[in-house]
Amino acid sequence: MCLLMVRCPQTGEEVWTGIETDPASFTNIPDGLFYTYCPHCRHDHAWWPDEAWLAYGMLRQQPSTAVFVGNLCVPRAPSALIS
Ligand SMILES: [Zn+2]
Repeated sequence: MCLLMVRCPQTGEEVWTGIETDPASFTNIPDGLFYTYCPHCRHDHAWWPDEAWLAYGMLRQQPSTAVFVGNLCVPRAPSALIS
């Protein structure tokens, strides 16, 4: 599995969206606006799927709030999900 990442517009840091997926499923994520809590600037960021990318390897930070639950994704912290 890969980690779906976006970039924090405030700090330029990479932010994990809380979504784990694979390259095939990533292309099937519906186009829409998603929100992810950013641990760097402590705000929620809105992002579009075409702004996100897949990261391979170890997670470098603690999972933040996952706000998108799709049938393509496996949330790491179910208690943090907003459905
Ligand atoms: Zn941020």
